[in-house]
Amino acid sequence: MHDKQDDQFQQKLQIFRDTCEKAGIKMTHQRLEIFYELGRAKDHPSAEEIHKRLRAKMPTISLDTVYRTLATFERHGLINRVQILDDKARYESNSTPHHHLVCVECKSIQDLYCSAFDVLDIPPEANEWGEVQSKHVELRGLCKECLKRKQEQKA
Ligand SMILES: [Zn+2]
Ligand SMILES: [Zn+2]
Repeated sequence: MHDKQDDQFQQKLQIFRDTCEKAGIKMTHQRLEIFYELGRAKDHPSAEEIHKRLRAKMPTISLDTVYRTLATFERHGLINRVQILDDKARYESNSTPHHHLVCVECKSIQDLYCSAFDVLDIPPEANEWGEVQSKHVELRGLCKECLKRKQEQKA
C-alpha cells in the first residue's frame, strides 16, 4: 500500500528525526511510538487518549512519560496543542495550515482545509493590539453524528 497519506507521514517522520537530532532529543522507542501514534491520529487526541492507545502495545508506558514527551515535542514545534472549549489540551502533528471544525457536543475536532480562510487578512485592530503570530479559524457547532442523535431523541 502506497498512497499520498503514507508519503505525508514519511515526510513528517523525516522532519521529526531531523529536528530531534538538531535539538539533541534522544530518539527512544517510547518517544518514537508517541510520535507515530499522534502522526497517524486524525482526531486530535488528548495525552490520556494517546496513553490509552499506546498501552495496548506498550503496557509499561506511563501517563507521565506521555505528558512529558508531548511537552518536549511541543516546545520544539514538532506538534501543536489545540485547546477547545473548556476541554483538556489536545494535540496534533499536522503542520500544514488548516482550520478546525469543533463539535460542542462530543468535542470532536476535524481538520478543515480552506484556502479562503488561509488568505484572510489580519484586521488593523489586531495589529494595533500587538503582534499576530498565527491565525486559525475555528468553526463550532454540531457534527453530523450528534445532529442525528439529537433528531432521534426528539422523534
Ligand atoms: Zn459531535
Ligand atoms: Zn487540526
